[in-house]
Amino acid sequence: MGAEQMNVIDLRSDTITHPTEAMRKAMSEAEVGDDVYGEDPSINLLEQRASEILGKEAGLLTASGTMSNLVAALTYCHRGDEIIMGDQAHMFWNESAGVSALAGAQVRLVPNDDQGKIDPADLSAAIRPRGNVHMPPTTLVCLENTHNRCSGAALTPQDTKAVADVAHEAGASVHMDGARIFNAAVALEVPPAELVKDVDDVSFCLSKALSCPVGSVLVGSEEFIGEARRWRKMIGGGMRQAGVLAAAGLVALETMIERLADDHANARRLAQGLADIEGLKVDPESIQTNIVIFEIEPSVGTAPEVLQALADAGVKVTPSRTQTLRMVTHRQVDSADVEEALSRVAGVVGKLREQNKA
Ligand SMILES: *Cc1c(COP(=O)(O)O)cnc(C)c1O
Repeated sequence: MGAEQMNVIDLRSDTITHPTEAMRKAMSEAEVGDDVYGEDPSINLLEQRASEILGKEAGLLTASGTMSNLVAALTYCHRGDEIIMGDQAHMFWNESAGVSALAGAQVRLVPNDDQGKIDPADLSAAIRPRGNVHMPPTTLVCLENTHNRCSGAALTPQDTKAVADVAHEAGASVHMDGARIFNAAVALEVPPAELVKDVDDVSFCLSKALSCPVGSVLVGSEEFIGEARRWRKMIGGGMRQAGVLAAAGLVALETMIERLADDHANARRLAQGLADIEGLKVDPESIQTNIVIFEIEPSVGTAPEVLQALADAGVKVTPSRTQTLRMVTHRQVDSADVEEALSRVAGVVGKLREQNKA
């Protein structure tokens, strides 16, 4: 690029999105109070709005999706219980083993298919019989929608019901890690409440594609949220005038959901362009939301080599599995950026293939 300033196209994650002007304004004007006393009107309103949108009784603002997932596990599980989740679950891969270390629960994995689904028969076979002193009781089953490591695939209400019915039949609760539940709702054109009607609680992130600076919300029954509030306090998540954050969350729920369709269209276009580049593999038809995971053929190099070469060319991506990389579209990447990114990727991949031939 020489002396010309190269703009970096950051496709690492939708978490890099900055708050909008409307959010900053709402934050500066937010009515606040001490939330540990239940007196922050902005937080109370956010928790109420979030629970309405998701069809649950009550909500709880947390610092992050990781905190929400941990608080849910702490609320449901005793030490020595077992939690069943998919083998590609974010809670298993990317949350520092919090449910084991802090909730004292053992994690049991069942396969996720490439669309992030769990086979109800696999779940049924994994659930422990009750009353056997040798075995941990299966207290909790966790689902993920959209599924991060499965290319942002969305679970339908039917997918969720099939698994939740098996769990409930066996006396286990069902937690939905819905970090990107609104991406699923927009992609499937299903109301968010419909997507989560068969689970006991849901966590979603304000700080990802919805562009807030901080925060997640956990929603569920009054009783569940009452208990969850105590566990959040115990792990240091009691907040004071966090209405400043909730104010941004309220703007997000009003204005940031419908536009996710743009991110999905950009992701689909990105996948089509990547599929046309010799040496890369991805099925564009499989891309439902804003996450594109693509495979690198050995003729191009290893995933870390390609990641570095792309970074040098001003395209930031993240590693995924051994020979795959991940791109995520978001509010700060438009369709022109997508075309520019594709042209840089084509250049980098072409060059690496030439070098490897030589
Ligand atoms: C990002 C993410 C989380 C964790 O959220 P943080 O706010 O980053 O802690 C949990 N689950 C899934 C599926 C995610 O993508």
